[in-house]
Amino acid sequence: MNTKTITEILTQEHFSHNDLVTLLSAKGNDIKQIFDKAAEVKQQYIGNKVYLRGLVEYSNKCRKNCLYCGIRAGNNNVSRYTVTDDEVIQAAKYIKELGYGSMVLQSGELMTRNFVDDIERLLIAINKETDYRLGITLSLGEQSEDTYRRWFDAGAQRYLLRIESSTPELYYKLHPNDDTHSYQTRLEAIQTLQKVGYQTGSGVMIGLPFQTLDHLADDLLFLQNIDVDMVGMGPYIEHSDTPLYEYKKLLPSKEERLELSLKMVAILRIMMKDINIAATTALQTIQPDAREKAILVGANIIMPNVTPQSFREQYFLYQNKTVVKDDAFTYHEQLEKNIQAIGCEIGYNAHGNSLHYKNKKNNKMN
Ligand code: SAH
Ligand code: SF4
Repeated sequence: MNTKTITEILTQEHFSHNDLVTLLSAKGNDIKQIFDKAAEVKQQYIGNKVYLRGLVEYSNKCRKNCLYCGIRAGNNNVSRYTVTDDEVIQAAKYIKELGYGSMVLQSGELMTRNFVDDIERLLIAINKETDYRLGITLSLGEQSEDTYRRWFDAGAQRYLLRIESSTPELYYKLHPNDDTHSYQTRLEAIQTLQKVGYQTGSGVMIGLPFQTLDHLADDLLFLQNIDVDMVGMGPYIEHSDTPLYEYKKLLPSKEERLELSLKMVAILRIMMKDINIAATTALQTIQPDAREKAILVGANIIMPNVTPQSFREQYFLYQNKTVVKDDAFTYHEQLEKNIQAIGCEIGYNAHGNSLHYKNKKNNKMN
């Protein structure tokens, strides 16, 4: 039992596991204290700019069978697609025109030689066609060191690979226990990305069946210990075509998952002052304005979807995923209004790189 109050904990430089559990259990006015502190830290270290990354959901083909994910290999109800090179390049040009400084290429996990070659070729083409103006983030799963190097050399600067849960025991309740879904391999892949030189992002799902506040406290310490540059974390949302759906009854309500996700973002901002934190699409799926709420308590990145319309309904990682039917421009105008309405501004035509990554590099050189 922690006998400290929230106010006492928030004055500390470092949080212990018990402190984090106390923060995560906060209610009512105590939550407000955490959110206020996170907003203050964000203002001081990051400012009020929100950076946008145009997200292209490149392919829903996947070799894996994560027990929570709607596009897992074993789901036969999915019609599989890959966006063509032309469409990706069109999307990249459009992202540049909108003034977003970056794009994200995300996909199911494939390790075939063709896939690796295709991404390498695409990276070179995107950079050429956009005059090297966009920061490019990849989120393409676990790959060999050689592949990570090739893609880095071809012009990708950032990579997102969530650990999903940092507790191996829980990890194996979410993944089949086999060589394709090894916790150790995933952890090593994150470390390899850091070694290769990427701005490296990770994250977890929040509000999973079997997940406790102890797990989430450990997740926060994990992200701090491995010293990530960016974090994307959001609520788990069930999908009826997946094995984990069976445990739906164990889930916290959507409102609880939202509140817990906002607490995680806020606490992480207080712990890791200069990293980039995304306000995720899964948040928006739970509540239309939840991303703005996350921005107010510490997040500074939004990833608007720019996947060609015809594919969007086939990239259903989870159910009821927000599928924006508006064209990218109408959507953008609304997003800009929403961001301004909460007193923030969009960081146009800038990569919005992780300050943490920059600060780490500078420290090494000094
Ligand atoms: N295949 C890659 C990238 C695409 S999946 C990978 O797995 O790393 C991107 C993220 O979607 C995953 O990391 C996972 O955290 C999230 N995701 C998948 N299914 C989800 C669900 N049911 N609810 C919430 N997030 C989910
Ligand atoms: Fe594939 Fe990623 Fe979904 Fe796992 S989470 S099944 S690796 S797309």
